[in-house]
Amino acid sequence: MQMYSPEQMKENIDRVREQIADAAREAGRDSKEITLIGVSKFFPAEYAAQAYSLGLYDLGENRPEELHLKKSILDPDGICPNWHLIGTIQSRKVRMIVGDPYLIHSVDTLSLAKEISKRYTANDISARILLEVNVSGEESKHGFTPDEVKAQFSDILQLPGIDVCGLMTMAPIQQKEGEARGVFEKTRVLFDEMKTLGADPDSWKYLSMGMSGDYKDAIICGATHVRIGTAIFGKRDYPDPV
Ligand SMILES: *Cc1c(COP(=O)(O)O)cnc(C)c1O
Repeated sequence: MQMYSPEQMKENIDRVREQIADAAREAGRDSKEITLIGVSKFFPAEYAAQAYSLGLYDLGENRPEELHLKKSILDPDGICPNWHLIGTIQSRKVRMIVGDPYLIHSVDTLSLAKEISKRYTANDISARILLEVNVSGEESKHGFTPDEVKAQFSDILQLPGIDVCGLMTMAPIQQKEGEARGVFEKTRVLFDEMKTLGADPDSWKYLSMGMSGDYKDAIICGATHVRIGTAIFGKRDYPDPV
């Protein structure tokens, strides 16, 4: 696995921050509205710590186990980024991460929302969550369809111990020209529409979209959180498929 030195990583972070600022400017937005999340998945905890020491205070992981492990390794050293859980969560794994994530981006079913509600209320805390939507209609993607998320929204909003903060989406990986932009625009329209469907206006503020290959488009379309792995940390060696 190739890993960057602190100097190289700093260059990557600076470059991404500049591009975020450029895209924000182009969209007439303030770049302070946009949180850069460094996605440290599949890299060792020390490499995540290196990013933190370079001022990247929001880190993302896509597997509950890995988030919990890295947090437990880094916490004792006072390295306490805002941990974002961005990947698929099986309901049975919710108990493992209660209280760990700063924000859960990937709530993709009502039953998962219920499980989070149950586990968090049992611990007298509440979870900040985003609802993951699949607007591209790709079958391989997780997430509510736009119709489902609207139909189930009031049930989700009623759950105790859950603060529903917005939406998360992913554009297709093999993008055709302009395809990512279309997905992000549709998600933005859905986000605005759901504002009027009973969301708490003090909470309903986040739109998590954009990865290394498409974050400029996402920012133009209103993203408040971009999730950047490869452009900061380098190429990942995925474990062998099981
Ligand atoms: C891995 C991952 C990312 C980061 O992807 P890059 O293309 O490496 O920037 C963003 N979001 C989710 C949900 C991911 O799983």
